[in-house]
Amino acid sequence: MQDQNFIDGHWRSAHSGKTFAVCDAATGEELARVPQSGALEAVDAINAADNAFHGWSTLSPSKRASFLTLIAQGMRERKTEFAQIMTAECGKPLDEAQGEVDYGADYFLSAADEANRLQSESIPSRRADRALNAIPEPIGIVGAITPWNFPLAMLARKTAPALAVGCTQVVKPAELTPLTALAFAQLLHDVGLPAGVVNVITGDPSSIGQAWLSDGRVRKLSFTGSTAVGRLLMKSAAEQVVRLSLELGGHAPFIVFSDADVSAAVVAAVNGKFRVAGQTCVCPNRFIVAEDVYEQFVSQFAAMAKELRVGRGRDAGVRIGPLIDDRAITRIRNQIKDAVSHGAKIVTGGETVHVEGCLDRFFAPTVLANASTEMLCFREETFGPLAPIAKFETESQAIEMANDTPFGLAGYIFSRDQNALQRVSRQLNCGIVGVNTGVISDAYAPFGGRGWSGFGREGGRWGIEEYISWKYVCAAVNG
Ligand code: NAD
Repeated sequence: MQDQNFIDGHWRSAHSGKTFAVCDAATGEELARVPQSGALEAVDAINAADNAFHGWSTLSPSKRASFLTLIAQGMRERKTEFAQIMTAECGKPLDEAQGEVDYGADYFLSAADEANRLQSESIPSRRADRALNAIPEPIGIVGAITPWNFPLAMLARKTAPALAVGCTQVVKPAELTPLTALAFAQLLHDVGLPAGVVNVITGDPSSIGQAWLSDGRVRKLSFTGSTAVGRLLMKSAAEQVVRLSLELGGHAPFIVFSDADVSAAVVAAVNGKFRVAGQTCVCPNRFIVAEDVYEQFVSQFAAMAKELRVGRGRDAGVRIGPLIDDRAITRIRNQIKDAVSHGAKIVTGGETVHVEGCLDRFFAPTVLANASTEMLCFREETFGPLAPIAKFETESQAIEMANDTPFGLAGYIFSRDQNALQRVSRQLNCGIVGVNTGVISDAYAPFGGRGWSGFGREGGRWGIEEYISWKYVCAAVNG
């Protein structure tokens, strides 16, 4: 297992020699120690990315695309290794971790396609004495700061388009899950990516982030994480006018209309809600169900949720792994307590589950009936296996409830009426809409949010655009 910073193609410890522990999310056992880097290593990483920039940005797009394809192949070949590291670091079930490797690899394939399509555009001018051209240039050195819940896919979403366009990169993974990012750096090394094109350092988030945003050479930062940290970074980015992509928290509504296939909606709800034990940004956070089918939905949902096996992610058949830390347990407990005090009923779950030999961090999949909009779980992102279900009477009421949040990442609607689906998906104030499905991520589509969920898109040609600085060249034509 790699446990050093990856800078300029070399494995390096922190200047101070200090390290911090990375622990198994289920048991708390130490897996490895990694460098406690700060501003010094952050600048080392920029220096390496700066030195590599000219060579990488002037390589032909098709040559860059062939590296991207090699990386995708390498990810698939090392799927088991990556998945085992992710399951250990963040606790997710092994098959979800394997799915994440495929999903991450798709970002590289999508970016390889886009690299091959990168071209200058000639612009028709009304004036005969001018030739106008738009040239897609790489924005420069780019930073990436990633969260713990998708340690590989969130990195892939940032690295793939950056490399496709010709940017070089400095990366800081979450402190809880740096080993996946270091294993990924090993893959980049093994496929022969030129030294300094991607540099990965672990350590203190605040000093590394500040060093990158104040240096002046980092021209863009792509961040995935909480809205609170996104706000801090946005303020700091102002100093050097650094371009940002912010993929922040979510609070997705999941609407079930009375004409929906309720059984299919329940399966989608369970799959969407309980992935990574409810710790994904696009997880349905609030269920809004038509009163005619409310009882049916609640009882079927609770019955399925109750059957989900809670345990260590590495054990076969486990669907719900541990929550990431004690704060997550406190948050879900508080939300349940608050909901019950406002009249909600616990239909299933509501408590922690003891798993032999593990930390007290496992929470039973929980379904709350009689939920209402004044409850904390309808306001705050839960990031845990809690499904509060409220009732609605009319379509406009459902839309109003769904849009009653400053977040705007994903939303889900279930109905058999195509007109209603079109109408409602247009009115939902969010960046992504799932129509009769609970799983929406795709490396070829534009992923991203609005409002407190941030801005910028990842995936497909939209993800590429974030790393391009278009240069407009206006040339005089004589004669
Ligand atoms: P977090 O904001 O605590 O941490 C995310 C990253 O930011 C980590 O690498 C962390 O070390 C770093 N960080 C923390 N403080 C920092 C600082 N002051 N300066 C620079 N970097 C700093 O979030 P988290 O708990 O790891 O992730 C969960 C959150 O991420 C949830 O809100 C979730 O919705 C969101 N998320 C969003 C998306 C999306 O695509 N919109 C995807 C996954 C997760």
